[in-house]
Amino acid sequence: MPAQVIDGKALAQAIREKISEEVHLLEKDTGIKPGLAAILVGDDPASAVYVRNKKIACEKAGLYPQEHLLPASTSQETLLKLVHQLNEDPRIHGILVQLPLPPGMDSQAILHAVSPEKDVDGFHPVNVGRLVTGDPMFIPCTPKGVIQMIDSTGQDIAGKRAVVIGRSNIVGKPVAMLLLHRHATVTICHSRTKDLPGVVREADIVIAAIGKPLFVTPDMVKEGAIVIDVGINRLANGKLVGDVDFGRVKELAGWITPVPGGVGPMTIAMLLQNTVESAKRVAGK
Ligand code: NAD
Repeated sequence: MPAQVIDGKALAQAIREKISEEVHLLEKDTGIKPGLAAILVGDDPASAVYVRNKKIACEKAGLYPQEHLLPASTSQETLLKLVHQLNEDPRIHGILVQLPLPPGMDSQAILHAVSPEKDVDGFHPVNVGRLVTGDPMFIPCTPKGVIQMIDSTGQDIAGKRAVVIGRSNIVGKPVAMLLLHRHATVTICHSRTKDLPGVVREADIVIAAIGKPLFVTPDMVKEGAIVIDVGINRLANGKLVGDVDFGRVKELAGWITPVPGGVGPMTIAMLLQNTVESAKRVAGK
């Protein structure tokens, strides 16, 4: 039987509607409107689309969006100054620095400058540490969305074998940590893993976060597995595909996420959720 497709777009829409209600109530009760500042440096077209989509999502849900579009020639010092200003700005509850930053900029120094209390992406070392110790203040958006998509299947994560392919700081590692906290038995695969197909074949839950089109093929997937595709890859013909060979893996997986319309929309919904949580903390709610 073909897999059930986890509709990220519909899930995200439902979450955004709920957020919209929360924002309305928060503003009515406390006068606080959750504010999100997005900083984009340079003119990377994909990044520009992401930032624009985040701004539109903010507006639709009733949040206060602030956009800072800076030229690629911006100095590190100027960018740091802006981050410090936003750290102090009471209208702003979340700050996001769109990655990648232009070459020559020290991304780590910039991410470390964001106040941990406004770090809605969860990239600051304080928030990374809190995630690892099981006391998160902000859960990184994409991993948070991945877990909610798995939960939407109604399957219990506890005791399952989960294999995460990819070990980046923004997806692979935090998603593995979240699965571990939910009592899965977790393996992280990467470019030097021996017999990667054999390892992935044991998984009840597969998370693909590699950035290689159609990398996960049916021979790697156990029948009935939950397959979450984080990858976003543009083919030469302009088509957007994930890291999973969706058309073929769908035939044997239990649940699968599409690209587009899967993890991407959930990431934006989680960003809004984190910003509202941050504003609520400020409001003492
Ligand atoms: P990354 O490049 O930082 O990390 C990729 C990881 O894949 C690395 O850890 C590497 O070890 C692993 N890898 C590379 N080649 C491999 C191979 N042959 N075998 C096994 N592992 C291999 O990427 P990232 O930032 O984690 O993003 C991964 C993908 O997810 C990209 O396509 C990115 O665009 C996408 N992404 C999507 C969202 C979303 O909202 N949907 C968010 C973040 C990233």
